[in-house]
Amino acid sequence: MSELRLYNTLTREKERFEPIDPRNVRMYVCGPTVYDYAHIGNARPIIVFDVLYRLLRHLYGAEHVTYVRNITDVDDKINARAAEEGVPIAEITARTTEQFHRDIAALGVLEPTHEPRATEHIEEMKAMIERLVANGCAYVAEDHVLFDVTSRPDYGRLSRRSLEEMIAGARVEVAPFKRNPQDFVLWKPSKSSEPAWASPCGIGPKGRPGWHIECSAMSDKWLWQEVCDKLSEAGRACPHVFDIHGGGVDLVFPHHENEIAQSCCAHGSDQMARYWLHNGYLQVEGEKMSKSLGNFITIHELLEEWPGEVLRFNMLRTHYRQPLNWTAQGCRSATTEFMKFGRLLGKDGWEPRSNHLAPAFLEALLDDMNTPAAIAALHEVCDEFRSTSVADLEQERRLDALVNGLALLGFDDVAGFEARLIAFKKRRAGIDPEQVEILVSEREAARAKRDWAEADRIRDELRDMGIELEDTPEGTKWRLAR
Ligand SMILES: [Zn+2]
Repeated sequence: MSELRLYNTLTREKERFEPIDPRNVRMYVCGPTVYDYAHIGNARPIIVFDVLYRLLRHLYGAEHVTYVRNITDVDDKINARAAEEGVPIAEITARTTEQFHRDIAALGVLEPTHEPRATEHIEEMKAMIERLVANGCAYVAEDHVLFDVTSRPDYGRLSRRSLEEMIAGARVEVAPFKRNPQDFVLWKPSKSSEPAWASPCGIGPKGRPGWHIECSAMSDKWLWQEVCDKLSEAGRACPHVFDIHGGGVDLVFPHHENEIAQSCCAHGSDQMARYWLHNGYLQVEGEKMSKSLGNFITIHELLEEWPGEVLRFNMLRTHYRQPLNWTAQGCRSATTEFMKFGRLLGKDGWEPRSNHLAPAFLEALLDDMNTPAAIAALHEVCDEFRSTSVADLEQERRLDALVNGLALLGFDDVAGFEARLIAFKKRRAGIDPEQVEILVSEREAARAKRDWAEADRIRDELRDMGIELEDTPEGTKWRLAR
C-alpha cells in the first residue's frame, strides 16, 4: 500500500502520515456555531474532512478511526440571535443544529463518531481551566479567567507569529485587566439574560466558557479519556496527543494557536495534535462572501437549486487547500461532468464485485487528498471503458473501479443521478410561486384569527404540493421540501 501524505500546517510540508495507534486513528475537526443556516463556506471543511474520514476508514478499517466534530452551542452570536427573535437560546441552537444536520446529510456527509456539544461539557472545561491556573498558565482577573500567553514560549508556532511582534503590534483598546494584550478568555461572567454556570477558581458570579477552551476539553475527552482512565489505573501516563486536527484556514490564528496553548499546558505535553490540516478560503462569484455584499449563500438555499451531489462534486473539483471560487457556472459544469459517470453506469447501476480502485485514483487521494486528480483518474477509467468494445473481466474491473472510487468520494448512488436531477427540475418548474404566496398569506390570516384548523389545513395543502413552511419573526417563509 502506498503511504498517505498530508500537508501539515505546523511544518508547512507534506509529510508521511503515521498514526500514533493504527488501531485507533484520531481526528478532531472544529464544527459549526449553531445560530443560523450554515453557508457554503461552512460546508467546505465538513465535506473536505468527510473525504479524509472516508479515506482513513478505507486505509485503517472503519472501526479503527475515531472522528470527533463538535457543535458550539454557547456563543455571543447565539445570544444575540435569541434576543433578536425573543425566543430561548435552546430553541435557536436546537433548530439550527437540526437544520445543519439536514443540510450536510443532503451533501452526503457521514456522521462523525462523536458530536459533542459545548453546553454538555462545561464541567470538563472548568476542570481544564483550573488546571491551567494551577500550572501557572492562566490567571483570574475581574471575574474572568485569562490565559497568559507569555507562559508558553512556543505560542505562535502554528501561525508563525512571534509573540514580541504581536505584543508590539497590539492596538490600545485592550481590557485593562489583561496582563498582555494577546491573553485570551477562558471564562467570563455572564449578563443576566445569558446562559450561565457556576464559575471555576472560586469566582463568585456565574459565567460561561470562552470559545477556544471548548475544543481543547472536548477533543481530549472524546479522543483520549477512555484510554487515559485505563492507563492511569495501570499507573501509566496518558499522552493526550491525537493524530489530525482539521478546520478552515481562518481558524489557524487565533483559535488553533490557542487550543494548542491550552491543551499543552493542561497536559504538560509539547503538542496537541501531530498533523494540522486546513482547507482554503471560499469566495462566491469572485468576491469574499459577506452579508453586506448580499452574496451570502446558505447550503439550504443552494439545495433548492441543485441536488446535493452537485454541490459536493463541485466542491471536490478544487484541491482542498486551494482557494475556491464558488459560482453558478461551476455548479452547472459540475452537473454535466457528474452526469457522465451516471450515464456510463446506466439506470440500473453496477454492483461492484471487488473492492478494486484505479491505482491512479488512490495515488491521487493519498497525495494530500488531491481530489481533482482523483476525479480525473475516474474520467480516464470511463474513457478506457468506452473505447473497449469487448465485454470482458477487464471491463468489469473498470466498472468496479468507477463505482468504488465514487463511493470513496462520498457518492453512493450515481446511477440514479439523472433521474433524480430530472425529478428535481420538474418539481422546481411545477410550482407556481404566486399560487404559493396566496396560500401562505391565507394561512397567515387564519393564524391571526386563531383559526388553527384552517391554518393547519392550508399547511397540509402546501405540503402536498411539496412546499415546506417556516414561521419566523419576519413572517412565514416557504421553500421546496426535500
Ligand atoms: Zn476548535
